[in-house]
Amino acid sequence: MMRDTHKKIVKCRVCETPLLHFFSLGGMPLVNSFLKYDDIMNEKRFDLDVGFCSQCYLVQLLENVPPEKLYRHYLYLSSVSSPFVEHCKKTATDLIRRLRLTSDSQVVEIASNDGVLLSCFKQAGIKALGIDPARNIARIANMNGLETLAEFFTHESALKLRSRGIIADLVYGANVLAHVPEIVDFVEGVKVILKPEGTAIFEFPYLAGLFENKFDIIYHEHVFYYSMLALRHLFDRVDLQIYDVEQFPLQGGSLRIYVGHKNVHPINRSVTDLIDEELAQHWNSIESYHKIRNSVESLKKDLLAALDNIKKEGKTIAAYSAPAKGNVLLNYFGIDSRYLDYIVDITPLKQGLYTPGTHLLIEDPEKINHSPPDYLLILCWNHADFVMKNLDAYHKNGGKFIIPIPQVTIL
Ligand SMILES: [Zn+2]
Repeated sequence: MMRDTHKKIVKCRVCETPLLHFFSLGGMPLVNSFLKYDDIMNEKRFDLDVGFCSQCYLVQLLENVPPEKLYRHYLYLSSVSSPFVEHCKKTATDLIRRLRLTSDSQVVEIASNDGVLLSCFKQAGIKALGIDPARNIARIANMNGLETLAEFFTHESALKLRSRGIIADLVYGANVLAHVPEIVDFVEGVKVILKPEGTAIFEFPYLAGLFENKFDIIYHEHVFYYSMLALRHLFDRVDLQIYDVEQFPLQGGSLRIYVGHKNVHPINRSVTDLIDEELAQHWNSIESYHKIRNSVESLKKDLLAALDNIKKEGKTIAAYSAPAKGNVLLNYFGIDSRYLDYIVDITPLKQGLYTPGTHLLIEDPEKINHSPPDYLLILCWNHADFVMKNLDAYHKNGGKFIIPIPQVTIL
């Protein structure tokens, strides 16, 4: 294809070095924009291309969709996902203990969604303020008594909060660091709102996933795919410093970083160890990134071959759940109604709407009980254990599961 040679040169959002392109997922719809039937005709696709900065090592999209378009109306409610709610409870308990938070402490959560984590802090008697640009979801949080500003977090909004006397012992942001195109402005804001001894914590999918076939984290909302190498450089620019890092399995492989003002907290060895590991994997070199595409292409071949065989036998396949990542997989691999008899999702807000790009009507999971498919393709494969446990009866009656990532597995 000639398309890449026509692309204008795109510069790194942090250091302005021209980016090196290594993976293209083609034209992709917005994978969290579920459609009403009447909207299907007007659906738009946007290029989805990933590049690498040879100077600051930051992996990022070449083009991003304006955040106003993505986040002002959002359908994902954190409180719907039980594994996530459990994760929040544990997170709050751990952080209160580790950071010695008390009723005098102030927590600011960026991208707080419907306030699952805020409520955990509030129950412990700690002041907690949320910020989330999705007006529909901020309204739900406020109705539940969890103060949430319906705004984007920026340097400017941080200055406004500070002038209101809000300054945080803990700034917390899960699934936000990868989403903000103006990332330097964002971390400048974090610096403004953080107490001298305070800690900012961010959780986000780790770049390692791209090297393990977890390519379905690539979509327009995720502008950045972070390594520690790139993060160190980013925070250094505004005199903030990462002092600890933990890896955990959420979202198929995530990092949690602890950030403070420079030279305040002792640096844990986990930080230098992980950076050394990344250097040993040559994540500072574009050559390493070219392997990603070849590996995903071979996964695509395997999955389509498995689905083709099932269809040839005249068997039925349904898809379980329609997360953003699942829509990336369906669109990039070309899996639509030719393969899938139906799709279900537990989120009531998604039911009755159509999947982006593939236009499948999303139904209630109850359908699995009264018309069980022969095979169930688990698109939220990172929660496969949880899903399979819940659908034990389906499995005992002969139903099979297909887990597509990191390798095609049929159980
Ligand atoms: Zn750069």
